[in-house]
Amino acid sequence: MTTTVSAYAATSATDPLTKTTIERRAPGPHDVAFDIKFAGICHSDIHTVKGEWGRPNYPVVPGHEIAGVVTEVGSAVTKFKVGDHVGVGCFVDSCRECDSCKAGLEQYCTTRGGMRGTYNSTERDGSPTYGGYSTAMVVDENYVLRIPESIPLDKAAPLLCAGITVYSPLRHWNAGPGKRVAVIGLGGLGHMAVKIGVAMGAEVTVLSQSLKKMEDGLRLGASAYHATSDPDTFKKLAGSFDLIINTVSANLDMSAYLNLLALDGTLVELGAPEKPLVVPFFPLGAMRRSLAGSMIGGIPETQEMLDFCAEHDVTPEIEVIDASYINEAYERVVSSDVRYRFVIDASTI
Ligand code: NAP
Ligand code: ZN
Ligand code: ZN
Repeated sequence: MTTTVSAYAATSATDPLTKTTIERRAPGPHDVAFDIKFAGICHSDIHTVKGEWGRPNYPVVPGHEIAGVVTEVGSAVTKFKVGDHVGVGCFVDSCRECDSCKAGLEQYCTTRGGMRGTYNSTERDGSPTYGGYSTAMVVDENYVLRIPESIPLDKAAPLLCAGITVYSPLRHWNAGPGKRVAVIGLGGLGHMAVKIGVAMGAEVTVLSQSLKKMEDGLRLGASAYHATSDPDTFKKLAGSFDLIINTVSANLDMSAYLNLLALDGTLVELGAPEKPLVVPFFPLGAMRRSLAGSMIGGIPETQEMLDFCAEHDVTPEIEVIDASYINEAYERVVSSDVRYRFVIDASTI
């Protein structure tokens, strides 16, 4: 028996998201059922519903920054009980057998089709997955995260994508004391990269389009803030970073940014713009620099990140909205007018 729940869905690339209903499965032995309390709005939701990464399967119920409270657990569930605070991020299943899955890197599952996305994907039985812009959800316990009690659920939600997406490369490329890290773009991902990078002990610089958000950037812990609209920035900062985290959702002049890396520095591309990046040889080869990419994080590392954020008191800056505001929020995200994550109050769906 399925349960009918309320949701917000996109039915085309151009129409606004509207209220609808979807079906959730009855919890099986390994499933956790939970009421969704909050869902963050990630720029990836917008890329997806607008078809910027290819035509999705409409209707799309977006949302992969999900925080809620457990209402029921299957008979074989061992990790969760009713009343627990839980989160779900960008995927709800994977093959569980490939080397990536066995290593807890489910986001890099190599079985055909890869990880099963929280929305715009399919469950094992072929039914479509629907995301967090809804009121309840049922997910296998192995793909559910424990949210530490000290993090309020509205602030926990954005950690499930924005948080882990920046935590993982910061860890992988050893952000810490003595590392000079630059973050391009002070949006949802960017502001978390500043906070987490600083908590790891790195020296963090923000590179934003303008100086409009400078006060915020410094308050979040950045030690410097520069406008990329000022050509002087690129002269002044040439060769001065060990690691650059690019969170920009649009295409940038990669030469200009690669030139900001020191010898052997790495630029990690997290933004996923619609068009391919243009990467000339010289800014890369000249200083043995690396250009890398990274995608979200696996379940063990996501749990590690949540615990790290609880321990270091790192949480996102959010604006909680009613579901009726989703379409306006989308417009504001696209115009870089977000400080710094919109979070939908699921009780308004
Ligand atoms: P966001 O909140 O919109 O932040 C992006 C920031 O980039 C903006 O706030 C803005 O910062 C800057 N920006 C936007 N347009 C720009 C332009 N034309 N030129 C220069 N800078 C621009 O988005 P988000 O949710 O953080 O996501 C950022 C990107 O990461 C998206 O493409 C998203 O799909 C992708 N993403 C990737 C992963 C992954 O696993 N790799 C996970 C989640 C999201 P300033 O105003 O400070 O310049
Ligand atoms: Zn996301
Ligand atoms: Zn796998």
